[in-house]
Amino acid sequence: MTTMRTIGMIGGMSWESTAEYYRLINQDVRARLGGLNSAQVLLHSVNFAPIERLQRDGQWNIAGIRLSEAARHLEAGGAHCIVLCTNTMHLVAPQVAAAVSVPFLHIVDPTGIEAQRRGVRRVGFIGTAFSMRESFFRDRLLERHGIATIVPEAVEQAVVHDIIYRELCLGIVTEESRKLYRDVIHALAARGAEAIVLGCTEIMLLVKAEDSPVPLLDTTALHARAAVDFSLAQA
Ligand code: GLU
Repeated sequence: MTTMRTIGMIGGMSWESTAEYYRLINQDVRARLGGLNSAQVLLHSVNFAPIERLQRDGQWNIAGIRLSEAARHLEAGGAHCIVLCTNTMHLVAPQVAAAVSVPFLHIVDPTGIEAQRRGVRRVGFIGTAFSMRESFFRDRLLERHGIATIVPEAVEQAVVHDIIYRELCLGIVTEESRKLYRDVIHALAARGAEAIVLGCTEIMLLVKAEDSPVPLLDTTALHARAAVDFSLAQA
């Protein structure tokens, strides 16, 4: 019998993407181990509304305290690692990682490893305005993985951001928004992006491989796979 380590997920930001993590992690465990095997998971799912409010108000430290509490609860409940199921809140990743003694599986790392595996040197990044504007994602991608990042122009950034909060986080997926994203992705590819990082965990609900002329690096799928790798690795 395989010994599994328990994956501690901090979810709810939004739950639409957390549900995808949960599905992907379980499908992957079944694919690797077969039969009735499923993932050993602890989920701490927060109410997104107050977190989103803190984001808008720039109260990142308070948001970091809330998520650190969630991480500590997961550790106390027996989680062997922490998976923060959102790119944006990785802005406070150092704070959350420091709150626990179990490993924090940072979302940038599986993305960087996959970009390297594909021989990609420069990626286009789409995500929330916070993730596109702040440097927490692109700095780590460059410093740890040697991958450069370009982001959409300001007007396109606003379009990408609004669709995330007004539609995707509410489970709304429309053909019109898919076309808008496709245009942004094509513009990034035309500017030299060799792959596109879907740097918001809901974007995979909207954008598929056929919407892009270059490969997609879906942070949700890559992060979920990294969680399974950790869970099934020999302790
Ligand atoms: N899930 C999104 C992300 O990956 C956005 C929601 C949030 O702000 O956490 O960035």
